Amino acid sequence: MSRLRALPRAHLIAGLCLVVLVLYPVVNPWQPYPQGVMLLAFLLAIQASSWNIISGYAGYISLGHSMFLGLGSYTVGVLAVRFGVNPLWVAPLGGVTAVIIAVLIGSVVLRTRGHAFVIITIAMLLAAQIFAVNLKSITQGSDGITLELPFWDRDFQNIPFYYVYLILLVLTVLFSAWIRRTKFGTGLVAIREDEGKAASIGVNTTRFKIVAYAASSFFIGMAGGVYAYYLSFINPVGSFAILGSVTIVLATLTGGRGTLYGPVIGAFIVQVVSEAATVYGGGSQSRVLLFGLALMVVVLFLPKGLLPTIEAWWRRRHPEEVEYTDQTGALSRAPATTTERVRAELAAVNAEDAIAPGEILLDVRGVSKRFGGLTAVDNAGLTVRKGTITALIGPNGSGKTTLFNLISGGMAADSGEIWFDGRRIDGMRPWRRGHLGLGRTYQVTRLFKEMTVQENVVAPLPDSRWRTMFSDAVGGHEAARARELLDIVGLGRFANQPAGALSYGQQKLVELAQVLMLEPKLILLDEPAGGVNPSLLGQLTEVIRELNRSGVTFLIVEHNIPLVLDLCDPVVVFSHGAPIAEGPPERIRTDPLVLDAYLGDDWRPAEDGAADEGAGESDRTETATREAVQ
Ligand code: ADP
Ligand code: MG
Repeated sequence: MSRLRALPRAHLIAGLCLVVLVLYPVVNPWQPYPQGVMLLAFLLAIQASSWNIISGYAGYISLGHSMFLGLGSYTVGVLAVRFGVNPLWVAPLGGVTAVIIAVLIGSVVLRTRGHAFVIITIAMLLAAQIFAVNLKSITQGSDGITLELPFWDRDFQNIPFYYVYLILLVLTVLFSAWIRRTKFGTGLVAIREDEGKAASIGVNTTRFKIVAYAASSFFIGMAGGVYAYYLSFINPVGSFAILGSVTIVLATLTGGRGTLYGPVIGAFIVQVVSEAATVYGGGSQSRVLLFGLALMVVVLFLPKGLLPTIEAWWRRRHPEEVEYTDQTGALSRAPATTTERVRAELAAVNAEDAIAPGEILLDVRGVSKRFGGLTAVDNAGLTVRKGTITALIGPNGSGKTTLFNLISGGMAADSGEIWFDGRRIDGMRPWRRGHLGLGRTYQVTRLFKEMTVQENVVAPLPDSRWRTMFSDAVGGHEAARARELLDIVGLGRFANQPAGALSYGQQKLVELAQVLMLEPKLILLDEPAGGVNPSLLGQLTEVIRELNRSGVTFLIVEHNIPLVLDLCDPVVVFSHGAPIAEGPPERIRTDPLVLDAYLGDDWRPAEDGAADEGAGESDRTETATREAVQ
């Protein structure tokens, strides 16, 4: 994608800006005022860039983020006054306090999904202010804390702060860039785009969100410590101001939420405009008005922010730099050697567990799920034996997808037990099931559309180790593995395309590659052939067969009956939320119960080769499938 190619250019510009900023006070040492404006811009950029980690990457909006600045200020202010140390020495402890508080708050609020977080962050900011007012013995209440003045000459007043903040800003941006490169960063974007799906591919969403919240607080806390020294006076109202939080949000939205440099650019713009408003527009009243208007303008006219808008414009102007997706669905077959290693890996994973081939790998026991008055899954029992490709067929609405959701953990069952690989899993979080080797795809594919195909495949986490979480997602072993898996499904050359640009069938194959990253023992495929063109269908069946030979077990929901009869054994037939028949395909296709409930008259033994609805169509598909396989 062009964004990747544009990246070095962006780094180059950023590097040049940095050189100018480093030289500026040297060239112009006797101007404390512009230096003061700049250092406040750095401070805002540090905050915006940090906020971007939880609210840009992970999409969880914090509206009380300036609380961490205040916490840092107070930590350092209290320590400096009490122990007579220079605030700069203890500034990192401001960051530590921020992280501790973020972990405490995060552990409570971020366990659940949704909007509670936004409200709590504002509440916490206000609570912090109340604490600062009332814990008089520590904070000196509303009187505030007065710190010693900087030890350097007044003439240089701003220069040391200028450089301290510039260094902190560079560190913050590097930290943010590093996060985005890791599987942790990919997981955060996955959470933003589709949290349920992220959980099903092994992303421990709770842990990821808490760590992101903590990571987004550290540099702000540290900057807050320095800020206390810069102001040499702190009080509750100034340190825990809601306007500070709004400014952070405004800066990031202006520049581009979720991008690396957007928050920094936005911070500079907002800081300069706000300064101009204060100087020419009559003080802080006008600033509040201005911020309100600016926020409206940004949300209405620049919903993605400045940087992404410029990027999109640039891409339109320079179309030659953009690779277009080949929409014909043509595929490249990888040489067998590329995938050999992955197959061996899967074979090893599937050979090591306690359950021998032919024994029960998945055991669903008397599971039910009701939606209000509707019983979607009704006391269903189902077993999948290791090494099989088991089919689950049945009319629309018979509860097949719901059963998948119960097995993968997207929904909780009302009753019953689910056992997988010798363990009871129905109480486990979805990512734990993923780590055990249970993968699934969706009836309507749920790829992360704003990520590239490659990033989509790198995103899953096969285990819960911190090392895996912080491994490199852009280069190195994980990325190489993702490339191999893409080659297995024949889509290697689309690696750098945005996932949303692929055809529907290609997206289904990418979702399969994504599941393979989990090193699965069992893969649940929900209508893998639905909406897929015949040539891709051949590819798909071939891949499923190959993986099955490596020891991977499949449970497949599918309406393409010829494909099911060709590929699967045994076949389980579902009707009204429970199985009504199970057996080898040749027996299922002649079972009167199945013919009545699902297959219909077209499949009665007297006739030959015709399918249910749209018999001719299915027939053609069957022929195409067979041809492609051979
Ligand atoms: P299938 O995959 O076999 O076509 P589903 O499992 O999707 O069937 O649906 C089974 C029944 O449960 C349908 O009647 C459907 O409308 C209902 N259903 C599925 N999911 C939900 C939900 N989240 N809320 C309410 N009803 C649902
Ligand atoms: Mg379904």
